[in-house]
Amino acid sequence: MTGKKVCPVCGESGLFYEAGGYIGAVYHCKNCGYVGSLIIEGDEEIIEEIRKKYREA
Ligand SMILES: [Zn+2]
Repeated sequence: MTGKKVCPVCGESGLFYEAGGYIGAVYHCKNCGYVGSLIIEGDEEIIEEIRKKYREA
């Protein structure tokens, strides 16, 4: 079972991959505006945990 790639801030799975940046691979989350090379790859349980924290923040 492979994990889904999601935003580390809000848990959104619709990440845009932006290649060619000066720091390498960069992901862009349209949901919360996060831009960075760090993404979370996990199962539904982990993703739901991130989403819960984001909603409560
Ligand atoms: Zn996000």
